[in-house]
Amino acid sequence: MNAYSPMMALPAERPFDDPGWVFEVKWDGIRAIAYVGETLSVRSRGDKELLGSFPELEELRQLASDAVLDGEIIVLRDGRPNFRAAAQRNQLTNPAEVEEARARSPATFVVFDILEKDGVSLIDSTLKTRLQELRKALRQGRYVVVSAPVEEHGVDYYEAAVKRGLEGVVAKRLSSTYQPGSRSSDWLKIKRVKSCDCVVFGYTPGEGARADTFGALLLGLYDEGRPVYVGRVGTGFTDPDLKDVRATLDGLKVGDPWFSDPDIPPGSTWVRPRLVAVVGYQEATRDLRLRGPRFMGFRDDKPPELCSLSQIRPLRLDEYYAKRDFAATPEPAGGHTPGAGNSFVVQEHHSRRAHWDLRLEKDGVLASWAVPKGVPLEPGERRLAVRTEDHPLEYGGFEGVIPRGQYGAGNVEIWDRGFYVPVRWLDDKVEVVLAGGRLKGRYELVRTDRDRGEWLLFKKP
Ligand code: MN
Repeated sequence: MNAYSPMMALPAERPFDDPGWVFEVKWDGIRAIAYVGETLSVRSRGDKELLGSFPELEELRQLASDAVLDGEIIVLRDGRPNFRAAAQRNQLTNPAEVEEARARSPATFVVFDILEKDGVSLIDSTLKTRLQELRKALRQGRYVVVSAPVEEHGVDYYEAAVKRGLEGVVAKRLSSTYQPGSRSSDWLKIKRVKSCDCVVFGYTPGEGARADTFGALLLGLYDEGRPVYVGRVGTGFTDPDLKDVRATLDGLKVGDPWFSDPDIPPGSTWVRPRLVAVVGYQEATRDLRLRGPRFMGFRDDKPPELCSLSQIRPLRLDEYYAKRDFAATPEPAGGHTPGAGNSFVVQEHHSRRAHWDLRLEKDGVLASWAVPKGVPLEPGERRLAVRTEDHPLEYGGFEGVIPRGQYGAGNVEIWDRGFYVPVRWLDDKVEVVLAGGRLKGRYELVRTDRDRGEWLLFKKP
């Protein structure tokens, strides 16, 4: 039996309908891969053995043979999976305590994928095939259930899930393979409340009733191994939490500050990055700070160094995918081809209102603006340009007819293409020198209305 790291989902903004996808509940618990062979092992993402804390999963021995199964261990409270309850059970190792907790809050292993059967790896098979294999290979038990995803109708499914108080849904592409250990756009998580796993790097001094505990936890995430400050969380703690956390943090103190930032009050204490906090938030700002953060619990099944900044970085092509039905439009799904780094394209697009789409390659996607009156050719001319969703690089070669009823229905033709030299690229100002067939010279885009995504496009002398 091979060892596998779980495949991860990327965050997406909203649900969608697509016959090539299935949708299932986003279970809020502890991700686990079960190796059911001559021996049984259930491993966390951090490769911790979970059977000691969740002995009810011994049941797997009777329900499957010679199989590697991927799923989530959940604990229900009020009919809903409760992450905190699952995390509490995961911390127990003393058999008497485990037994007591198991009687009080039994766990369920929701299995949603199969990675190996009878010694044959299935990770290169499509999800569609794996789901069929899973149904054949695993019987349901008292503590083990097989997830039942629905096809195509993601929007209704998401709304029903949210009404039931569930965290959200996961969308999975039926034609996709299993990509161990990677966060792939073939799996998308669409959550009601966003949350991320943050590393605690310190705490701020408390005031008033919290003078002897702490004010807020200072949070960071890793970007290519380097810690980055993302904000602080001071709400969502219970009184016992506050005391426990302070005691734990005092055992981890270090002298040197991890971050220097105007948001961090003087007198803050720094600690070794060992604690992982689940933090709910409304959104991440453009400079990747958490807005409306709220503490939801600690988790010890995830190593701090796996808490990456990419959790809160929006996936740039989410909106592109969410707007299109690739069974119906000839537009490329894309998102796979590496680019030249500095290409641009202008596409003449005869949709309901004709316009020209200016797209500049940036960080692996095509940053895009719709220019209703076309890209100016004379110096001094300025045109309204409306920022539209990022497009995959493959879109730069697209020409064709988007069928009626689809997003952007109408004819698309390449009007110009070439390369550009960036002069500067800021959030609200982009200056480039274009070298295309028709467009040559210096152009500037300046944002005029953030909410409406309005910019002005100039040709400079
Ligand atoms: Mn367009």
